[in-house]
Amino acid sequence: MKPCTQCGKCCQHYSDGGLSATSEEIDWWQTFRPEIARYVDDGQIWMHPETGERLPECPFLTADAARADEQSITSASAANAGGRVRYSCSIYHDRPDDCRHYPVSIDEMRRDGCEMLELRDLDNPIRAQRALDQLMSDSRPPLSGPVASTESGATQRAR
Ligand code: SF4
Ligand code: SF4
Repeated sequence: MKPCTQCGKCCQHYSDGGLSATSEEIDWWQTFRPEIARYVDDGQIWMHPETGERLPECPFLTADAARADEQSITSASAANAGGRVRYSCSIYHDRPDDCRHYPVSIDEMRRDGCEMLELRDLDNPIRAQRALDQLMSDSRPPLSGPVASTESGATQRAR
């Protein structure tokens, strides 16, 4: 299992309707991070603050400008050209648990093209799942172990 390459695929794949936030998270944003709460509408994330329509991509996903500048091209054209643009989360410490819990399962990672996966992980997915659970132990309960009663959407999605 490799470290996360910040390829951004997971955020791009799930942020247009595949993510959720708990009412506690939304309440906390409303009190302490209103700039995040403005992208919530009727408990749904990530929504346009004025139109209330679902955004095609998370507003907090940020292409690494330094890398794009370095290549003298925009993030979009870098991606089109097969260049390496790294992405980061501008609300990393206050992101929802649904984001914090990713990646949950080897199947999910394979489906999403997660770049943490190595060939040997695919050869032995049970061992790889254990390694992933260990890697994510600070962020979520293990997939194979006892599951907390308040599963996130990410945990449920991965089953
Ligand atoms: S909040 Fe952060 S981690 Fe979650 S989808 Fe947006 S950029 Fe990705
Ligand atoms: S898809 Fe995998 S490698 Fe890419 S940003 Fe998400 S966790 Fe990292």
